[in-house]
Amino acid sequence: MAVKIKEILKKLKIWRSLKVRLFVIIFLVGLLPCFLIKGGILQNYEDRAVAVRQSDVQNQLKIIANHLITYNYLQDTSSEVINAELEQLSNLYNGRVLIINGNLKVVKDTYGISEGKTIISEEVIKCIKGTGMANYDRNNGFIEITTPIVETVSAKMATEEIPEGTELTRGVMLTSVSTDIIVNTMDILNRKALLMEIIMFFCILVIAMVLANILIRPFDRISKAISEIKDGHVDEPISVPDYLETEHIVNAFNSLLNKMKILDDSRQEFVANVSHELKTPITSVKVLADSLLAQKDVPAEVYQEFMEDIAHEIEREDKIINDLLALVKLDKAAAELNINVVNINELAEIILKRLRPIARKNDVELLLVSTREVIAEVDEVKMSLILTNLIENAIKYNKEHGKVTVTLDADHQFFTVEVSDTGIGIPRESIERIYERFYRVDKSHSREIGGTGLGLAITRSAVLLHRGSIKVDSKPGEGSRFLVKIPLIHGAL
Ligand code: ADP
Repeated sequence: MAVKIKEILKKLKIWRSLKVRLFVIIFLVGLLPCFLIKGGILQNYEDRAVAVRQSDVQNQLKIIANHLITYNYLQDTSSEVINAELEQLSNLYNGRVLIINGNLKVVKDTYGISEGKTIISEEVIKCIKGTGMANYDRNNGFIEITTPIVETVSAKMATEEIPEGTELTRGVMLTSVSTDIIVNTMDILNRKALLMEIIMFFCILVIAMVLANILIRPFDRISKAISEIKDGHVDEPISVPDYLETEHIVNAFNSLLNKMKILDDSRQEFVANVSHELKTPITSVKVLADSLLAQKDVPAEVYQEFMEDIAHEIEREDKIINDLLALVKLDKAAAELNINVVNINELAEIILKRLRPIARKNDVELLLVSTREVIAEVDEVKMSLILTNLIENAIKYNKEHGKVTVTLDADHQFFTVEVSDTGIGIPRESIERIYERFYRVDKSHSREIGGTGLGLAITRSAVLLHRGSIKVDSKPGEGSRFLVKIPLIHGAL
């Protein structure tokens, strides 16, 4: 049953509204005490009224029971006094009194119906034995009371078996009194309470509606503020400090907003950088071509020289575009990794072989130190990119007669590639920025030696895709040391 109700509530769209839930809770919590108080008060009144009436009647019955003995009524029912008393009692309480003698025979019935009959009921027999009792019959609206008619043995009557002072039950008074008055009062009270309940119902309804609206207002403010930001009217951080909860939501949203702003700024900066970088070689090509066109009868050697320069600029443009494409590919999901078991020592040797001519051209010595054999699960193409970029930089930013050492090592979890050089080093203030796209310590020098400013950005993305880390130590004028650390088994961490 409870599960069914839950399912129905889940389907009800309106129940998913916090405002509706608050309203229902406040309404029920407000209404419940009303019902409880009403029920409690009425029940209490009824119990109390019945108890009072019962004790009133019992007191009078006790007095009459004494009179019955005094006037010897059980033997002779002609006593005017007693009959008047009984009549008065039955009129007063709208009830009926039966006087039953010791033989269970009715000697007097104020209704005059059962006189002379014998009554054998549990209550009467119990009462004959000395225990009177009272029962409230709620459904039929009366209280039934049995009162023993007790005679105390006087000195005159006393015998050896029955000493003086013994109480003997001579008969029973079986009385039923109506509780109509109580029922009527209950009816009136009930009607008044119902009226109060209806008034309370509407009051609580209104209070619940107003409260639910007030309590939910901060959340409305948040969604309104978010909509305004979404529509582009404002881009200030939101502030709704009313509740701790709204503060948490707002803080989370503001930090997301901040992140998006940073992302947007860096995207804009990137686009500006890309345009600028791509424009530079094109401008050079245009200048070279224009100056050729402007001259008449240009000698073949000059043509040759200009064309070489143009080819060089086109090559540079091509390199930038290739680097950009590589970076874009690396920025995509990690799923793009094509993992294979690769012998890193062999891979390093191949790369070193490929770079040796450049090293020779720059008069730089290239050395590979394999501390141990390293076999790891990596994407071979991306690992080549990492090694190539680092070693190429170490060669490019070196000095004459410089040296580049590539050291391979591993422990049980990671392998490390250390590329150290004896080159120009990186200034302290630039260390943090060298992984940024298009960042170059010395722009013109880097361009001269064919750098695009994207190499380290590509390297870092590739390392991160392998869940590795990259660090750099550098002393300007003395050299730099790049340390890459990558897990031997992909997905183990
Ligand atoms: P670039 O294509 O200009 O080499 P990178 O992203 O590879 O771009 O490197 C960014 C900058 O970091 C370089 O311009 C250079 O100033 C500096 N840098 C990188 N590696 C080294 C190194 N081994 N020694 C000194 N400077 C370096």
